[in-house]
Amino acid sequence: MSASLEELLQRWRPLFPRRRRVRWHDSWLANDYCPDCRLCCGPQEESEPFPMKLLTHQLGPHVSKDFYMLDTNTAYLDKRGCRSYTEKGCRLPRERRPVACGLFPFVLNRNTLQLYQRCPASLFTPLSHMEAEGRKAASWLLSLSDEDRSRIAIDLPTTTLANRYMDLHITLPAAHHS
Ligand code: SF4
Ligand code: SF4
Repeated sequence: MSASLEELLQRWRPLFPRRRRVRWHDSWLANDYCPDCRLCCGPQEESEPFPMKLLTHQLGPHVSKDFYMLDTNTAYLDKRGCRSYTEKGCRLPRERRPVACGLFPFVLNRNTLQLYQRCPASLFTPLSHMEAEGRKAASWLLSLSDEDRSRIAIDLPTTTLANRYMDLHITLPAAHHS
């Protein structure tokens, strides 16, 4: 069974006695909680796989070594964690990582930006700051082609959204979800 939010807070409060920097930088979220967390790269709590679409230019023979694959262009995370996760963090250069990795704890679900509540950055950063960084992430997502944006958007079950995410009320122009 996955930990409650209160259990997560108890685990992380001693680890993160001070707030850390969380800032949108160019095309990814610079998140200083990550090196001591790695919750979203390691073995996943959820039984449902978490899909991470790859962009066309990221595809190649290396993907099956880098990731567990749901289909030819969709990497995913499950209870094994990510194939590229090491004790020192992600072994991939940034350009080989799925867009989802640079966005997290923001998640593009259909055409709305959601915030994964269980990330320490979400738990310890004032919501107003996360909303402001989320708007920067949304601006960057708008710089992608419609095709790329619709490709990387996911469609989480309603119960997962209700239990794990906060709606930031940041809506992007509708992309045709595939
Ligand atoms: S859960 Fe949040 S802080 Fe932890 S590794 Fe993922 S993005 Fe970083
Ligand atoms: S590609 Fe790297 S950053 Fe993304 S989930 Fe895998 S280990 Fe984490």
